[in-house]
Amino acid sequence: MTHPPTHLPEIVRWSAARMADSLARKEVSAVEVVQAHLDRIAAVDGAVHSYLHVDADGALAQARAVDDARVAGADLHVMAGVPVAVKDVVTTAGLPTTCGSRILQGWVPPYDATLVTKLRAAGMPILGKTNMDEFAMGSSTEHSAYGPSRNPWDLDRIPGGSGGGSSSVLASFQAPLAIGTDTGGSIRQPAAVTGTVGTKPTYGGVSRYGLVALASSLDQAGPCGRTVLDTALLHAVMGGHDPRDSTSIVAPVPEVVRAAQLADVAGLRIGVVRQLRGEGYQPGVQERFDEAVALLVEAGASVVEVDCPNFAYALAAYYLILPSEASSNLAKFDAMRYGLRVAPEGVNEPTAEQVMAASREAGFGDEVKRRIILGTYALSSGYYDAYYGQAQKVRRLIAQDFARAFETAHVLVSPTAPTTAFRIGEKLDDPLAMYLNDVATIPANLAGIPGMSLPSGLAAEDGLPAGFQILAPAMCDERLYAVGSALERALIGRWGGHLLDRVPDLAPATQEVHGG
Ligand code: GLN
Repeated sequence: MTHPPTHLPEIVRWSAARMADSLARKEVSAVEVVQAHLDRIAAVDGAVHSYLHVDADGALAQARAVDDARVAGADLHVMAGVPVAVKDVVTTAGLPTTCGSRILQGWVPPYDATLVTKLRAAGMPILGKTNMDEFAMGSSTEHSAYGPSRNPWDLDRIPGGSGGGSSSVLASFQAPLAIGTDTGGSIRQPAAVTGTVGTKPTYGGVSRYGLVALASSLDQAGPCGRTVLDTALLHAVMGGHDPRDSTSIVAPVPEVVRAAQLADVAGLRIGVVRQLRGEGYQPGVQERFDEAVALLVEAGASVVEVDCPNFAYALAAYYLILPSEASSNLAKFDAMRYGLRVAPEGVNEPTAEQVMAASREAGFGDEVKRRIILGTYALSSGYYDAYYGQAQKVRRLIAQDFARAFETAHVLVSPTAPTTAFRIGEKLDDPLAMYLNDVATIPANLAGIPGMSLPSGLAAEDGLPAGFQILAPAMCDERLYAVGSALERALIGRWGGHLLDRVPDLAPATQEVHGG
């Protein structure tokens, strides 16, 4: 045996920062780090179902290349050798990209998304593609055509959505870092219900080139991790200007890593949003939130209450704008150029339209169809002004609410989601109940501002993780990390360890898995 395996099962529990350190000191090789994760995946993903595709060979080859370069004395990126999982809505050359949909089953993109190019350039091995609600529509992964992912805290519960694969992969130690996308909360809500961290950067802060679009004016890719610093390290790799995305911000990535390291909140004014609390919020979630605010005050911040009266209409506006944009973006799935093609039954020489209809009928799930119908209706002439136009006006009012609130507060805070993780099946037949999960996360997408969720603790009534949301003005992403890091330190001090130390061990036999 060349590498004694004794320390390997431990590796998967390390933070990404510690992995990067140990790799740089040559205490561990990238191949060992990747192999430890592949073993962990083999042991637990049957139960959690975080991954749609695992790329063992590709990840090991990337790791080997990093190890060889390190031995040769090359100047490597700080994150070289630290593996990452990528949500299946992000294109990866040579690796399937399904968006959780039957219509893209078997599709292998010919190109990498810009953020993937950046991961590869930094030497970060890609372990695989994570599960998601079909085309990122949902809050639970139950809309995935390939079956739901499960919450490592309780396998009968949802890991959030649409990025439940990326959140559960972290909480079950199957990857130290993951990529998510957030159109209405799909990074933050999954982080909230799994006790992990996730950031939606400022709109335009991370390139959208190579993301399969859901709603282009709302979509934003972002980093997911188990700690605030880890999330910052990934943010720094994936962010920055991209000439291939015309909405990409022409500015360097905000100083997120430094902010996470300093964790300085002295003199910061924190605005508690009056409209994002109270009725509809689970008492245990609210309780953890209030405690977290008190801890930030102890750390040197002050608190003000702010009013955002138009947030009451955010959900309604979002569920007009999103379906409108989605119906137009998804029109490209016509069975002619790529993806599933189904011949209509009982038709001898079907027309292109009949093939399109049969393929879409078979290829799209119920939620996707629902939103396409909603969107085409809202955009149809005669209804456009009443629905889509009106929603755009509300969007402006919400941005104005934020602008006013940020005149009195440096950051705004709220619970990330109104409740802890619900049971699989509980809301599947009630789209409106499902949509209500997003009340606190959606305003940030409508205004294009950055937001983070980190764990605030376990709710007393069910022992499940609750999320704390931080919002900052556009291009001030570093504030999320300063506040998040300060809160994380205070909470870890109070708990005497990381929250995820308490997640049930799904594979007590992991120790035996690595054969060496
Ligand atoms: N749950 C939201 C929705 O269903 C969020 C989607 C997202 O952020 N991709 O639209």
